Amino acid sequence: MSKGRNREKKIIHPLWVSGKPYYDLKSYYRNRFGDRVYKLQIDAGFTCPNRDGSRGRGGCIYCDGRGSELRRQGALPGITAQLEEGKKLYRRLRRAQRFVAYFQTATNTYGEPVYLKRLYDEALAVDGVVGLAIGTRPDAVTPEIVDLLAGYTGKHEVWLEYGLQSSHPVSLERINRGHTREEFEEAVALVAGTGIRLCVHVIIGLPWESREMVFATADYVAGLPLDGIKIHSLLLLAGTPLHELYRKKPFSLLTRDEYVRRVSGFLERLPPQVVVQRLTAEGYRDIFLAPDWARNKLQVLQHLARFQAETGSFQGRLWSS
Ligand code: SF4
Repeated sequence: MSKGRNREKKIIHPLWVSGKPYYDLKSYYRNRFGDRVYKLQIDAGFTCPNRDGSRGRGGCIYCDGRGSELRRQGALPGITAQLEEGKKLYRRLRRAQRFVAYFQTATNTYGEPVYLKRLYDEALAVDGVVGLAIGTRPDAVTPEIVDLLAGYTGKHEVWLEYGLQSSHPVSLERINRGHTREEFEEAVALVAGTGIRLCVHVIIGLPWESREMVFATADYVAGLPLDGIKIHSLLLLAGTPLHELYRKKPFSLLTRDEYVRRVSGFLERLPPQVVVQRLTAEGYRDIFLAPDWARNKLQVLQHLARFQAETGSFQGRLWSS
């Protein structure tokens, strides 16, 4: 009998039922729905105000701006068709019954509320869909849109995902985010107390950010009324402004060991009830340049697990209310 494989997982916190040293999404769904739930990605054809000139041009420096693979294949199928396709796959592979419709590509609140309502209603009408997750920018959310989303929360699970990437104004400027920290805070305040769950995206690996700066971002988000976090590794993608900067003046990217150390330290600073929805980034095989280790998400997660076990690290270890 393999000792390692059958070793019982120690549950550190009563919410973390899958035995990880952090509150992973699987545990959250089990606690909330008593079962597994799968997020189905949707590309609803949205654009981005940081590209079309209404907030900025050129986009964030690490963004390739191409949208999903589905978009690159031609005319986008409708919301229902995309969800039914995703359901088919997960039902076959995992016998899944419940799903969250994840509006992922570009800025998914960038439209008039009446138009957004049509899209969100369509997603929620699909059999098995129990909720929405809407990825967006903090400067693309208005009180009317928050009211619309809050209206779904009585019956459905609703997550709003804000890209922040860094709490440091200098970083927001250098990555050309096109919004300020204050605008982010205003958008957070709009959601507070509405029943909408808030998830924030951050990037670890900006070449000018020290470990201390990353941990300062962790302390900053830990002080917000936050329900979830997504942590991405910085990826160097061909054709992006970041790639152009790199070609002019190459800079170092994080090693996997340093990335893992920073992720672990980040999680230590978060409250234990914040759901960790992502710990690294992957994909983009055709334009991916570096760092090489980021190609293998599973290995990154394994390294993180080993590091956490060896150092006794867990989410909330350094957090104090
Ligand atoms: S806000 Fe999102 S879609 Fe828009 S440029 Fe930045 S990363 Fe790309």
